[in-house]
Amino acid sequence: MSKKSYKDKDIVLTGQYLGVVEEFLPDKQSTFIKDGKIFASKTGMISVNDKERKIEISTHQEKDRKIVKIGDTVIGTILFLRQYSVGISFYTINKKIHFNSSCFGNIHVSQISDRYVEKIRDAFQITDIVRARVQEQNFNEFKLSTTGKHLGVIYADCVICGNPLTKIGYNKLQCDRCGNQETRKLASDYGNVANNLRF
Ligand SMILES: [Zn+2]
Repeated sequence: MSKKSYKDKDIVLTGQYLGVVEEFLPDKQSTFIKDGKIFASKTGMISVNDKERKIEISTHQEKDRKIVKIGDTVIGTILFLRQYSVGISFYTINKKIHFNSSCFGNIHVSQISDRYVEKIRDAFQITDIVRARVQEQNFNEFKLSTTGKHLGVIYADCVICGNPLTKIGYNKLQCDRCGNQETRKLASDYGNVANNLRF
């Protein structure tokens, strides 16, 4: 079979040959591999990330869906801190913001970071904007996790004066206005997140 590369946004059918494993990093949800070749496991639009060589297929319905699924990445605001968890209201599903379908989630202290977190307030504060992954659903409540580099706080205000905080270290933020320093479980792209994802 000849090597064939797909372009971003091409439409493919279930079972269609997409390329070889040397060429792409296939997505487990929407492709399958046989003898080193990648095939589509559903019909939809291809998305190719040239930089990371990732290939995945998404369907129109999925892009517009408002139901939260296990494994989704969501963005929300910290509502309150408990001793061993935080309450978070989240809105974003698959990078789309749904203000009319706000969900409630919890992040347990053990699910915050790969590193040990002693106190909740070393990782989050009320009003922080956080990117998290959905792990479990219990009726209308979701268990979320922020372990992993790209998950955690993406935007935070100073607890003293309300000024946006600037990243000065792995888990350190500083207020340019009052000089206050705080710690957080930061996402690796803290401070560089598009405005439309912050709302
Ligand atoms: Zn301040």
